[in-house]
Amino acid sequence: ATPTAVMVGTGKAAELGILIGDGEALENARRITAVLLDKTGTITRGRPGLAGIVTAEGWSEDEVLTFAASAEVGSEHPLGEALVAAARERSLALTAHRDFAGVPGHGVTAIVDGRPVVLGNQALMTSYDVDASPLAGVAAEASAAGRTPVYVAVDGRLAGLLAVADTVKPESAEAVAELKALGLEVWMLTGDNEATARAVAAEVGIDHVIADVLPAGKADRVAALQESGHVVAMVGDGINDAPALARADLGISIGTGTDVAMAASDITLVGGDLRSIVAAIDLSRRTVTTIK
Ligand code: ADP
Ligand code: MG
Repeated sequence: ATPTAVMVGTGKAAELGILIGDGEALENARRITAVLLDKTGTITRGRPGLAGIVTAEGWSEDEVLTFAASAEVGSEHPLGEALVAAARERSLALTAHRDFAGVPGHGVTAIVDGRPVVLGNQALMTSYDVDASPLAGVAAEASAAGRTPVYVAVDGRLAGLLAVADTVKPESAEAVAELKALGLEVWMLTGDNEATARAVAAEVGIDHVIADVLPAGKADRVAALQESGHVVAMVGDGINDAPALARADLGISIGTGTDVAMAASDITLVGGDLRSIVAAIDLSRRTVTTIK
């Protein structure tokens, strides 16, 4: 495209709340064949809330939540923030933890009241030799409803399960339908478990799901799709999406997300409305044809 056409194009995009880094990004948008969407904060609002607590024998709901939230104080993960907020809502007295450690893509560990706490997904329980089977059925039900099950273990034993719910953005389903109508393949890419991911994907009409991806693995998944012949747009909001955004042919960040994601992307959707992706591709196609 001529510099003038690109200037006009990026100017129009800005009016639509789409910030385009350079002319190359605008031209690349037209060649995209597959769109990968991060789940949390991109398809969903990214503001999860505690939806339910199921306890193991010998534990009360408040005890389980107190240990979990105490371990998560200071956590920057949306799941951790949700648990702390829920504990505050119930006016539970949280205790200071020590030896806090985040396990990327799995959960956290900490010492609370002198007792070791491990909380996170099934894989984390397995790696700490915690028998999660008594609540596996409840976890499966939570996942089928699109909720994220968070197991809580204290002293190496299962204490309870917290179901955390995040709602999908009202416009996500429409955006997916429009992307498909443009002939694009739409994929979900998430660190969450397969069952929860599939339930959310079904809600918005996505057929292709890549779940249980560790933060470091997202860029590899983008590369794999590229190797299979796709020109890939990656859409994400988190720090852990940044390498994938940079690896994609077109990196699209959500303006309501992290600065790191925005810095790694070619395009930023200011309001976080996924329908803007369709508008950007549309605009790119028109900008390029105008000058030909
Ligand atoms: P996402 O792609 O949804 O941002 P992450 O890679 O951050 O996922 O985490 C993957 C999974 O690991 C989460 O769905 C959750 O089960 C577990 N997990 C990660 N961090 C935490 C945390 N701070 N507290 C509880 N569970 C966590
Ligand atoms: Mg996210």
